[in-house]
Amino acid sequence: MERAIAADRTVVLANARVWPAGDRVVVRGGAIGPEDADGEVVDLGGARVVPGLVDAHVHFPSWALGRRELSLFGTRTLSEALERIEAAETPASDWLRGRGWREEDWPEDERPTLAALDAVTGEVPTALRAHDGHTLWVNSAALQHGDAEADDGVLREQEAWDFFDAFAAASPQETLDAVRDALPAAHAMGVTGVHDKDGGRGAPEAFAALRAAGELTLRVWQSVPEPDPARGSYVKVFMDGTLGSRTALLLGGGGMRLMGPDGLAAAVRSAAAERMPVAVHAIGDLANREALDGFAATEALWRPLGLRHRVEHAQCIHADDIARYAALGITASVQYSHATSDRELAARLWADRLDRAYPYRQLLDAGVRLAGGSDAPVEELDPLAGIRAAAECGLTEDEALKSFTAAPAWLEGAEDRRGRLSPGCDADLVVLDGDRVRATMVGGRWVHGAPR
Ligand SMILES: [Zn+2]
Repeated sequence: MERAIAADRTVVLANARVWPAGDRVVVRGGAIGPEDADGEVVDLGGARVVPGLVDAHVHFPSWALGRRELSLFGTRTLSEALERIEAAETPASDWLRGRGWREEDWPEDERPTLAALDAVTGEVPTALRAHDGHTLWVNSAALQHGDAEADDGVLREQEAWDFFDAFAAASPQETLDAVRDALPAAHAMGVTGVHDKDGGRGAPEAFAALRAAGELTLRVWQSVPEPDPARGSYVKVFMDGTLGSRTALLLGGGGMRLMGPDGLAAAVRSAAAERMPVAVHAIGDLANREALDGFAATEALWRPLGLRHRVEHAQCIHADDIARYAALGITASVQYSHATSDRELAARLWADRLDRAYPYRQLLDAGVRLAGGSDAPVEELDPLAGIRAAAECGLTEDEALKSFTAAPAWLEGAEDRRGRLSPGCDADLVVLDGDRVRATMVGGRWVHGAPR
């Protein structure tokens, strides 16, 4: 890895097209230097330079481990999934782990079953997470490890997570190795920071170990399931399930309520006692309404503390609630790629409320701040793909870029130091050739593709 630019050294990235304006960036040590400073010149040949991209919703260890696991993404039938499972290498760890199947993508009469999975896996305990991670397909050998009841081999929501975490999850060492290996892959996508969501799955420990070893080249804003400032930056809780699992909580009935407004209010109060903001997962229109109810009920407590709360996903919102988002100042942490990849599914399951689905344009027009994320490993950890998908959702490129730069910086309370390339800011930036990442810098250090 390239060393950081020494504190007394100045490098001028010249002949650049800097977003939103300018033709050079001065880097002095780990920070952006004065605009007119002289130094060692690197000619970028007209390449574009943008602030470092921050993925505001990523399950980094899950994504990192997923790069080493069986992929069932894109399977169109049960037998196609079974073929891939049967062909999978016997894992070095004792469990066969995989991810990515989605029963909605399979013919109506084909469902994951215990018998079908047993037939191709035998004695190897097998745990296969669905595309969105909210459903788990297991075999008989896996079920022998736990006391879960799953006659059909399928566990959902909390039961799925509890089973996976207790029996099938990777060891801390496997997780640490996977996270370390994945850092260069993230930087190759222009990622300089993440808002991680795996606070309950070993992320704080893995990132802390890498930081202590001087190996952490990524800025991390970490969720935790309980208020714990020593381990995390914000608290993450859940109002409902997902579109794909048909567990998103809907106005007029349907879905699964994992937490109501009172539960969220209690979570906000206990987080506020530790001066931590809350991120709440809310997908259905009723879940979004109840999330706003919870934030509204506690506003007198958190507003004076300046806590910057957010709703994760915000996929289906009644028109009345869009104005409430703006009035409360709640950030919508959204994944543009979901809107494009879930289009068919939403058209089917939310046919009666499609006008409320993925209302990113309406949120922006109402003055709501959008933060952009991938939800990797559900989608690729690729902010540029997110920016392209945002265009399909009616956003300008500037708006999409802000959601991956200025908005996450604001959520971290770091808007004075990051999210833009002004003198005094951290030297986090990405050099782009068209739609390709040529180089990525974090804190004055090239972490991908140093140009010269
Ligand atoms: Zn997620």
